[in-house]
Amino acid sequence: MTQRPYIVGNWKMHGTRAMLSEARAIDRAAQRHMKVEVAIAPPYTLIHPVHREAEQIAVGAQDCHEHDGGAHTGDISAAMIADAGGKFVILGHSERREGHGEKDALIRAKAESALAAGLRIIMCCGESGETRDKGNAVAFVKKQLKASLPKEIEEPVEKLTVAYEPIWAIGTGKTATLEDIAEMHGEIRKLLVSLYGEEAGSEVRILYGGSVKPENAAEIIGTAEVGGALVGGASLTADSFMGIAMAATESVEG
Ligand code: PEP
Repeated sequence: MTQRPYIVGNWKMHGTRAMLSEARAIDRAAQRHMKVEVAIAPPYTLIHPVHREAEQIAVGAQDCHEHDGGAHTGDISAAMIADAGGKFVILGHSERREGHGEKDALIRAKAESALAAGLRIIMCCGESGETRDKGNAVAFVKKQLKASLPKEIEEPVEKLTVAYEPIWAIGTGKTATLEDIAEMHGEIRKLLVSLYGEEAGSEVRILYGGSVKPENAAEIIGTAEVGGALVGGASLTADSFMGIAMAATESVEG
């Protein structure tokens, strides 16, 4: 892996302009953690304000529409996100798959549209607790990911990041075991190489997401094939989010 650990905050539907001070604090702290790449995905309404203020961190979106523009009331295209200063988009989050009925084919179309608009993508995947209990987690995630990812990615393949987020671990305080994380990330790595070639073996970061906190970040980020973390709840304050970035810095420094 030649890339720095990637620590991405997903603010979900949290944040008004009052949260800009937190984004500024994250940005300032990120300047002291240059061995780690830090980014946040606030609500759409804060993308441009965060972009204007940030000197170090990248800002991105939590979703985009699959078309460039047109009669799609209430939607936001990848080109609009890029225009607002967004550099990446999170796609296929389980809350979009469940709450908005997003299927793999739609997510793939969004991914292709985002790449065409020059955005990087963070493609989420993950199994339910029931699927894991039945022993089908790896097969499920590989199938979901294969169907959601773009068929081709023009160089550089590092524009793609994958986030493995077991649904049962999101916002619950539960995390997958380190063995399960290593197994899943290893399988995802093999899939990426089979889809996009050898470069995907070293250049695509695979993040873990699901109740990552400063207290558990070091061991998770230190696990084989984990290239960083996608963080929900703990990304909402600079203190807890940068505690995770600090743990990632320590894992790089050994
Ligand atoms: C997420 O929703 O992407 C997430 C990982 O949330 P949390 O960290 O709160 O579990």
